[in-house]
Formats: sequence, structure tokens, C-alpha cells
Amino acid sequence: MTTPAKVTYNPSSEFQQAIRARVDRYFRMTGRSPKDSVRMYLKTATVILGLAGLYVLTVFVAAAWWQVLLLSVGMGVGVAALGFNVQHDGNHGAYSRVGWINRITGLTMDLLGVSSYIWSRKHNVLHHTYTNVAGHDDDIDLGPLARFAPEQRRFRFHRLQHIYMWALYSVIVPKWQFHDDWAQLIRGRIGSHKLMWPKGWDLVWFVAGKLAWISIFFVVPLMLHPVWAVLTCYVITMAVAGIVLSVVFQLAHVVESRHFPVPDPETGHIDTPWAVEQVQTTADFARGNRLLSWFVGGLNFQIEHHLFPRICHVHYPKIARIVEKMCKRYGIHYHAFPNVWSAIQSHYRWLREMGRPVPATA
Ligand SMILES: [Zn+2]
Repeated sequence: MTTPAKVTYNPSSEFQQAIRARVDRYFRMTGRSPKDSVRMYLKTATVILGLAGLYVLTVFVAAAWWQVLLLSVGMGVGVAALGFNVQHDGNHGAYSRVGWINRITGLTMDLLGVSSYIWSRKHNVLHHTYTNVAGHDDDIDLGPLARFAPEQRRFRFHRLQHIYMWALYSVIVPKWQFHDDWAQLIRGRIGSHKLMWPKGWDLVWFVAGKLAWISIFFVVPLMLHPVWAVLTCYVITMAVAGIVLSVVFQLAHVVESRHFPVPDPETGHIDTPWAVEQVQTTADFARGNRLLSWFVGGLNFQIEHHLFPRICHVHYPKIARIVEKMCKRYGIHYHAFPNVWSAIQSHYRWLREMGRPVPATA
């Protein structure tokens, strides 16, 4: 795979401006604010109190092994909910018009052991700018473990990736916590992109976050329980969180019919405007499922999130109607899976397709 160092898009912004004007008009007409939604503050309180409650029950109350098992699974779901709903909006600056509220909500990711400083650069910059571009979008890069994009190198064992990846998703969170954060910081790079060392407050929060995570998940539980019990709970919690987080992400990008743009190997240019490519690389799913939409922080409206990452996710269901209509008008292929199961099947088939031998070119 040849990866040009710098990738550029077609500079035309006609579609982007048209769609932005429509969405701005929606907020003007309804008098709603794109940020600081009361629903979002209530949701944050619910998710944080729920997760804190599960933690207290697991560490201080549960006695039987099956109670601990169920609570650990619940905590995994809670960790994913905090990630989808609170840190994601916070780190995008979509939560509030007030900078420090975004910062604090974004820092909830550090409490879970993943640096928001590094994640923001990977996610906000690399994933949101170079969506599905192999060699640039860190979210589709699991090294040799998986082949998500046609441009990535195929190994023989990828033939089975549609089976083993579901299990591998369970180790993604510990991979971020124990490996990626440190390796990327030490290397000073995320893939081909430079990563600066955190400075000032960023450094303070980085260190404080790591200490808080170790205290919450290891030091406090170890005061009351044996090492094997604490590690077992930790592994279960993070495995559940990893599977839920990974699958929701994969259903939005790594499915059939979505684009994996290939920049010109010489110039790095992609001859499609960025906003158009955001629609073509991304899919929505289960848009009518209100419970799921609540839980995944609107990330089943991923097209809308990619076009408007700085708008709070509670607005995505309404914005989706505008986006879909405008895509139709501009002849851009907007794709929404009717339910979770159809999206899961599509991800399975895409993994299987990418695992097949690459036909030799003449
Ligand atoms: Zn995002």
C-alpha cells in the first residue's frame, strides 16, 4: 500500500454550504440551540450515576460470584455508554458553548483509562478528516490483525477475520489503555501523522487521568478483594465495553457499499469534496430505534455526526431528515440500515470479502 503523506480533497464546498444553510435554518426556526441541551445534561447525570452505582455495588456490596459477573457486564455497558454519550460530545466541543464544560465532559474518557488528549487527535482530526482513507484514518487501522479496507495489505489469516474479529474487539480498550496511548506518545506519531507531547494543562490532565483510572479500577478494589477477582472483573468490564464500542463504530463505516477513498499516490488528492465523501464513507443504522439511539449517543446517525460533529447528538434524528433530502437532491448515495441486525450482517460480509484472496491484476 502506498500512503501519500498529505491528503487533500476536492475543494468544492457547494454541498457542504447548502446543507449547513438548511441545518442553520432548522435551528433558527425551532429556536433550539445546537449545544447545551437539557436532555443532554439529564442523560449525562443518568449515565454517570448509573455507572457509579454499578461500581459501588460491584466493589462494596456484591457477595456472590454471579452478582459480580452480572455487575461487571453492566459496568462494561456503562463504560460504553459514557464513551458514546458524554466524552464523545465533550471532546468534539459539541456538548456546550462553554469551553470548560466540554473539557470536563471530555475528561471522563481519562477516568476510563484512555487519554482524551491522544484520542481527540486520532478521532477529531484523523478519523473525521480522512474517514476510511487507509493509512490515515486510525480507526480502520488495527495493523496486520484485520483488513478493513481494500488498500490494506492482506495476510492469509484474514480469511478467518469475519469470525475472529468479534472476539478481538474485546481487547481493544485494554489495547488503547496499556499500549496505544504510550506507544503513540513515545513514537510521537499516530500512523504517518505527528503527535506532540502534551504540555501545560494537557500534561496535567494526562497524568491525573492515568492516576485516577488506576485508583478507580485497581487500587480501591484491591484494598477489598484478591488480585485474581479484581483482574477478572476488569477484563470482563473492558471486554464488554470494547465489543459494544467497536461494533457500533464498525457498523457505521466498515460495511458494504461504503467508500474507502483512495488518494492519488503521487499527489495525495481525492477528487471528491470532503463533505460528499463523509456521506459516502458512512452509514446510519436503526434510526427508528429510540432506545438504541439514546444508548449509542446518536452514533447510529453517524452520517449526521460526520457532517456536523460540533452539534450535540440529541439533534441528529431531526437533522437526518434534512441531510437525507439534500443528499437525494445532490445525487449522493445516503445509506441507512433499517436495523442493527442488517448492519451487523453487512459488517460480517464485508470482513469476509476483505479476507478473501486479492485477485491478481493483469
Ligand atoms: Zn466523532
